[in-house]
Amino acid sequence: MAVNTQQYLSITAELKKKNVALVAVSKIKPVEDILEMYQLGQRDFGENYVQELADKQTRLPADIRWHFIGHLQGNKVKYIAPFVHLIQGVDSFKLLAEINKQAQKNNRVIDCLLQVHVAEEETKFGFDEGELLELVQSEQLTSLKHIRITGLMGMASFSDDENKVRSEFRKLKQLFDTVAASPVGGPAFTILSMGMSGDYEMAIEEGSTLVRIGSLLFGARIR
Ligand SMILES: *Cc1c(COP(=O)(O)O)cnc(C)c1O
Repeated sequence: MAVNTQQYLSITAELKKKNVALVAVSKIKPVEDILEMYQLGQRDFGENYVQELADKQTRLPADIRWHFIGHLQGNKVKYIAPFVHLIQGVDSFKLLAEINKQAQKNNRVIDCLLQVHVAEEETKFGFDEGELLELVQSEQLTSLKHIRITGLMGMASFSDDENKVRSEFRKLKQLFDTVAASPVGGPAFTILSMGMSGDYEMAIEEGSTLVRIGSLLFGARIR
């Protein structure tokens, strides 16, 4: 139960060269591990569970940028709205409206990524292509003044078929370019969050600007 320092240093060196951001996925890992990586210089951490995130946030340095990367339920937005840096997995207009409401209460603007579903698995959350394009073309989003859409997030299938994984990343990049050219695009729309421990190198080849890596850095998660 510790940080893989060598791995961390080599991955961050590689990402820096390629100008790709790293979110260290610390779900289920103890605050001691997060602090250890913080001391190596890491500031962006990703968590999947609201309760766990809210608890860790109070116990760790205030300059950590917390990314919520899990499936977010509307009734839990209020617990992270005061401090969250980026909500990566927004998968419905209803959730966006709730984030907007809670951000307003906290007198801030919350950055969000729209989650896109391109993988085969039924269990993955997100907008499908049609829903995404409909949402970004509509006027709906312009009324939400307390959220800012800064990019897209997606996951490829868990598969050994490299061609399949690659084509899903390629699809995400294509959708990213389409949304960037829509009314939702603009100077702040810059993040394409794709790639995890097993597939981040391929994701970067296909245009990822932010990777979310957990087990490669913190070791396997055993619950
Ligand atoms: C857990 C998780 C990750 C990190 O997965 P690893 O395979 O451990 O790198 C990345 N993204 C999301 C959305 C996750 O839930």
